Order: sequence, then structure tokens, then C-alpha cells
Amino acid sequence: MSAQPVVQYASLTDVGMRRSANQDSLAVRLCKEYSEWVEMGHLFVVADGMGGHSVGDLASRITVETLPLAFVKSNAETPSGRLDEAFAAANRAIGDKARENPEFADMGTTCSTLSLSGNGAWIGHVGDSRIYRIRNDVIEQLTFDHSLQWEMMRQGHASAENSESLHPRNVITRCLGPDKNVEIDIEGPFDVRSGDRFVLCSDGLTGHVTDSEIGAIVDVLPVDDASRLLIDLANFRGGSDNTTVVIAVVEEYPPITALTVESQAAQIARMDKEVVPAIRQTQRTLRAKRTRLATALFGVLAFTGLTLLMTEYKSLGLSLVSGALILGFVQLIISTQGSATVEVDKANRPAKLAQLGAREPVELSPYRRESAEVRTEFLDLLARAHSELTTAATDNGWKLDTVKLTQLAQMATAAGKDCSSGGNLSAYAAALRILMKEFTTRMRPRG
Ligand code: CA
Repeated sequence: MSAQPVVQYASLTDVGMRRSANQDSLAVRLCKEYSEWVEMGHLFVVADGMGGHSVGDLASRITVETLPLAFVKSNAETPSGRLDEAFAAANRAIGDKARENPEFADMGTTCSTLSLSGNGAWIGHVGDSRIYRIRNDVIEQLTFDHSLQWEMMRQGHASAENSESLHPRNVITRCLGPDKNVEIDIEGPFDVRSGDRFVLCSDGLTGHVTDSEIGAIVDVLPVDDASRLLIDLANFRGGSDNTTVVIAVVEEYPPITALTVESQAAQIARMDKEVVPAIRQTQRTLRAKRTRLATALFGVLAFTGLTLLMTEYKSLGLSLVSGALILGFVQLIISTQGSATVEVDKANRPAKLAQLGAREPVELSPYRRESAEVRTEFLDLLARAHSELTTAATDNGWKLDTVKLTQLAQMATAAGKDCSSGGNLSAYAAALRILMKEFTTRMRPRG
């Protein structure tokens, strides 16, 4: 009996420093049995709700309750089919609820879902919450933001540099709820290796913490400390929105199972069904055009040549007739070869697919890549945050565990001297936890 993967995870959601309610929701569903894991895998979900009259949390709550259940109950044979059905079920459930009460009418939610199974990692995604993978000191964004900024960049109307100033960050172009038919990005399988770290988060995190900072923190700290520091950092920098973080660290991953092969075979079969006929049709159309052109040319050459043979320009006529005969011969050879079976290069299928416009997305994951190394500038920044918060604590007479804080500051300095970025980050994370706990309690709006 094979063993399940060893996955450590942590999940946290926080209201932030400005909002009075938390509209984010999350769910984690771990498989109990190996066979269950092979088929459907551990599931991680983050949803960021929106809507007036304080019902924003309703759509995200319905999603995290409906989606995992529908995912497990699905009879689909492939992970993509399973995700498809689960997202459709969540979308229906929100729509049904919205019709019950006019106040619920405009509610919606983003949803990013990760399945870690015997089929590798699969992602279902709509909206601007994100899924990242951290591997070998690099953080990769595996999801495409369905935001005005990203859509404008995709269409070439904005660049990474100016999109921030041209378009507001928080306008999303797709979400669950408002429309009966919503397009979901389903991508996979991504291979999974021991040591991989996955992060799911709402835009409350990515609005304040950069990709490389997320990468460094998650790469170095244990999952609980990392999730805590990410939220503390977002709140320290303003906490303008609700923040949700789910981290999954793969300590050991069993080898790919036979199901993966089946799943890939199913995908290839689907591609064969959709793509190969399309390519054949294109080739048939091209061949027919070429044949018509060659026949017309053959006719003109032969007719003109034969006519000239009866005049004084016999040699020119002979040349034209020979040309017509050669053309006819060449066309005969081409048409014989063209009737052979069309072979489609399997490796190039996604490209062929895109080329034929047969299926979106043309662009494939990962969408962004950054270094996840712990940079000195980032450690300096944490040191400054520590010092600013300590000054605020002293000025305002907060009662803090000053002995512990001094100890942590000394640990951070010692780690800095030893060039231990992990130790340094770890000490600052613990110190910021003590300080931010006090800071958020005092500064958060009540109600
Ligand atoms: Ca949000």
C-alpha cells in the first residue's frame, strides 16, 4: 500500500486594518485514504467575496462550502472535469441564493483552487486571487489575474510598468456569481516535487507584499510562521483589505501513478478529437486551393502551347506544353503524398491549438517569475519595521514583553552577523508578531 504525500499546511484569514468585515473565505480538504488522494487529491480553496449591503462574505462562504463537496461528489473522469463541475456548482449555488433576496443580487466572488493529487497539481481559477509555486529559490505565479490591469496588458494596451497608473488595481473582469456561464481557467497537470511550496492568497496580500517577498518568507519559514508574517506585513503596510493566505509545503510526494498516464491519455484523446480534425480540415482546404490553382495554370499553359504549335511560334508552344506536362506531373506526385495520414506532432499540440484558435488560453502558466531569495534590502526593511513599531510602543506606553523583544532583536543581529538569512527572518517574524498583535488590537476599527 503506497503512502500519501507528506504535506504541511497553514491557513489564515484576517480582516485587515481598514475594513469592518472579512469577506474572504478559505477551505482545506485533506484526503483520508491513499486511493482518494490518488483520484482527487488534497484540495485548497481561497475565495474573495464582493457585494453591497454587507453580503460580500456570503458569496465566498457559499463557494468554500459548495465547491469542495461538488469536487468530491463529481463523477468526472479527469481532474479538469472534476474542477469544471465543482466551479459550476458553486456558481449555481451563488446564483440561486442571489435570486432569493434583491439585496444579494450583485454578490460575487473570486475563487482559486489547488488540487494536489496522484495526477499532479491542478488549478481552477477565476478572479484576482492568486496561486504561486515556490521551487529552487524562484516564485512563479500559476494563475492569470482576471483584472482590468492584466487584461489590458494581455491585449497590449498597457505594459507592466504603466498598468498600475492607467488602470485601478481592484477592477476584476470575471468572478463567480453574477453570470450563469462563467469562464474558468483550469490548468494542469503541474508536476509536484518534494520541497515545492504552494501559496494561495487574496489580493489583500498581493496589494501590500511583493511576489519576491512572499517567495522569501514562504521559502524560509515554517508554514505557521510564514502565514503569520505575511499577514502582519500586509497589516503593517496599511492592511487596506482583508487578507487570506493558505500555504502548502510538500515534504514528500509519491511517484506519479498510473492514473496520471490515464489522465494524460484522456487529454490527448480530447485533443485528437478536437485538434486533429481541425488541422486536417485546414490542410484539406489548402490542398484543394493548390489543386485548383495548378489545374487552372495547367489549362492555360496547355491551351496556349497547343495553339502556338499551329503557328510560326512552334518552339515557344513546345516549351509551354512541356511546362504544362511538368506541372501536371508535379501536382500528381504532391496529391499522392497528400493523401497519406496527417501526423500531428504531439509535443506541439498546445501551439497548434493556439494557432488554430481552437482553445483558450493561448498564454500558458506560469505567468510571472521572480527570485525568492532573501534579499538584504528586505531584511533591512523588516529591521526598520521592528524599530518603528518599538518606538510607537514606547511612545504610546503599550505593555509589551520587552525582554522577549530584546532577545529577538539580539537573535536577529547575531543571525545577521552569521549571514543566516533564515535565522534573521525568523527572529524578525517573531518580534513583529508581538508588536503587530498589540498594534492591530489598538489600531483596528471596531464594529
Ligand atoms: Ca479583496
